[in-house]
Amino acid sequence: MSDILKRKKQIALVAHDNRKEALIEWASENKDILNKHSLCGTGTTAKLISERTGLEVKGFKSGPMGGDEQIGAAIVDGKIDFMIFFWDPLTAQPHDPDVKALLRISVLYDIPVAMNQSTADFALKSYLMDEEYERHVIDYYNKIRKGNF
Ligand code: PGA
Repeated sequence: MSDILKRKKQIALVAHDNRKEALIEWASENKDILNKHSLCGTGTTAKLISERTGLEVKGFKSGPMGGDEQIGAAIVDGKIDFMIFFWDPLTAQPHDPDVKALLRISVLYDIPVAMNQSTADFALKSYLMDEEYERHVIDYYNKIRKGNF
């Protein structure tokens, strides 16, 4: 797997139900920038963003049906470079273990993750969005298993 996040980024878009309107609005405001990249997302989020903004967003399964896990697996496979995840800080989710797993995997594989609007704004307007970026994945086998810190 390459440790390079590509110039044209594969961006995952995920929002819990109470945060979907905020993400749709944000995507609509940032349509021109988002259009330069490839978009995917959990099922309902992807469908709503596509319908409401006209952006092309590939949909995985719905989050509670395993969509978060699918996005996590795509991160592990090096197929997602960037994630916008508006999770709901005020409502418990039935698939909370999947949400936690997705956040863990995104930290482990060092992809940028925006979890609220201000971070999404700062990140999307960074010059790095249009450049390749070498991420810093922890070398698990050498550093942790063999103790080579
Ligand atoms: P959804 O999933 O886009 O299918 O609603 C989001 C989530 O709850 O993880």
